[in-house]
Amino acid sequence: MARRWLKQERRTKEELFDALVRNALGFVNSSIDHLQTKPKNAIVDLYTAVELFLKARLMKEHWTLMLSKPETGDLQNLAVGDFLSVYLDDALNRIPSILGERIDKTASDNFKALGEHRNQIVHFAHSGMDNPSKTQAGVIAEAWASWHYLHALLTGLWSDVFQPYAAELEVLNRRMMRQGDFIKTRFEILKPQIEIQEKKGKKIVPCGHCHMPAAIVGETHTWGADYTCMVCGVDDTAVEECHAELPCPSCNAPFEFFQKDLHACPHCGHVADTDILIDLCSKHFAEGDDWCEEGQLHIASCHKCEHPEPSVFFIEGMWSCVACFDRGWKAIMCERCDEFVTGDVERIQYFACHKCERQVREQMLRMVETSESVSRAEGSEEPAPMAKE
Ligand SMILES: [Zn+2]
Ligand SMILES: [Zn+2]
Ligand SMILES: [Zn+2]
Ligand SMILES: [Zn+2]
Repeated sequence: MARRWLKQERRTKEELFDALVRNALGFVNSSIDHLQTKPKNAIVDLYTAVELFLKARLMKEHWTLMLSKPETGDLQNLAVGDFLSVYLDDALNRIPSILGERIDKTASDNFKALGEHRNQIVHFAHSGMDNPSKTQAGVIAEAWASWHYLHALLTGLWSDVFQPYAAELEVLNRRMMRQGDFIKTRFEILKPQIEIQEKKGKKIVPCGHCHMPAAIVGETHTWGADYTCMVCGVDDTAVEECHAELPCPSCNAPFEFFQKDLHACPHCGHVADTDILIDLCSKHFAEGDDWCEEGQLHIASCHKCEHPEPSVFFIEGMWSCVACFDRGWKAIMCERCDEFVTGDVERIQYFACHKCERQVREQMLRMVETSESVSRAEGSEEPAPMAKE
């Protein structure tokens, strides 16, 4: 009896998760439907989708985490939809504090701004939407930026969780990207403002997302320049270009290989995919930086794209990944799992690298659970049961 009940309970939770995600996907879809005709609805729908996806992520960890008060969680109520679920701010707090996952501040700020915009639309007569031509492009750009951050989470950090929906996400992403004409319109509208920034001495570079020359450079680092795009609102880093060349394995002519959009040799058309680039770089860039031991092969695993094979080489003074073409991170040996990885050095030293992170987190959770059951046992009147070895 008990066994059957448990089985049923699990299936119900999976169904709920699936329903939540399908609901979220539906809201993205209707948001795109509304972008050009009903921009207010588009913003409200997209915000709903963001909340639902964050809830789904929390629910995957534990179903009570999607409730506003997890301690009052009752699975019976959840099944019939009678619960007060977590709001955006709570969700954004719980993800780093309970799941230990870091959401970029630019992404969480963007979601909060979308939420404020949504509240203005829902609760007040929204003043910013009276001039249709201007606002349409603006709303599309806002939706574009929010989708950029959401899509990056769903297909990056949370790709395991949302893998079953990868095809649907890809379709939605393509639909969103097709709004490009409106991005051009917005660029034309903003052009005078961009020119003013340029006259003030700001450096303008092409945005890596909407491809408009509208990204205003802020802080610059050795690995590239941070920018904020005036057209699509995305904050990102324009990575320092790499002009190193490699001989094509087919025609032997040298070509600049470190380019995201390059898929073949420009001379003979021979494919230049990630596997081939790794193979070529292993021959030409197998030495690490000054921190590496001499004579040892040094190819790091990339924490950004988590390409299954080590794909980061030390090229022109910088660790450079030939799978995702990000560069400028430090590469070190993780003392926990002995993998040679890129990433935030402090995070690797004091917590874990991307290779052993899951394992370390599970260990920590087990430790917490054991200490909780020990303290519960100590606090009770009953003699504590002997721990099983
Ligand atoms: Zn842009
Ligand atoms: Zn060639
Ligand atoms: Zn990479
Ligand atoms: Zn590790």
